[in-house]
Amino acid sequence: MQHTSTKSPAKCVICGTPEPEPGTYPMVVGVGRVCLKDGMSKVKCEICGNEVKLLTSSKLQGRTLCLADHVKEVEKFRQHLVVGFDEDTEPAATILTRAFTEAPEGYTLLAVRRGRNSTHLWEAEYEKTEVFQMRCS
Ligand SMILES: [Zn+2]
Ligand SMILES: [Zn+2]
Repeated sequence: MQHTSTKSPAKCVICGTPEPEPGTYPMVVGVGRVCLKDGMSKVKCEICGNEVKLLTSSKLQGRTLCLADHVKEVEKFRQHLVVGFDEDTEPAATILTRAFTEAPEGYTLLAVRRGRNSTHLWEAEYEKTEVFQMRCS
């Protein structure tokens, strides 16, 4: 991938038109810089099938996605999750139980600990179950 310095104007990755001034063309994740004309063209999200502007789409692992599906996909790849609990609103015992019983779907509880520099905040750390099992077998 070409490094875009602030001095040299980028070229539209689709039609090749150089931008009038450096930094004019918006960046499309996974695609590159595109001119405004191409940015307004419609692309189809490969997950929900909606037509969205290229500008608001992104490309992830070769698939064109709308913004909402992009967020969902990125979330899927997240291996760790930290959920916060507040001892001011519920007793510590409940927090410990809830951290375990209400683990997010597909995640395994790794640890529950006190939040950093806090006397009442707790953090429950989860790891994606597949990752957890891979590590343990
Ligand atoms: Zn273009
Ligand atoms: Zn979509």
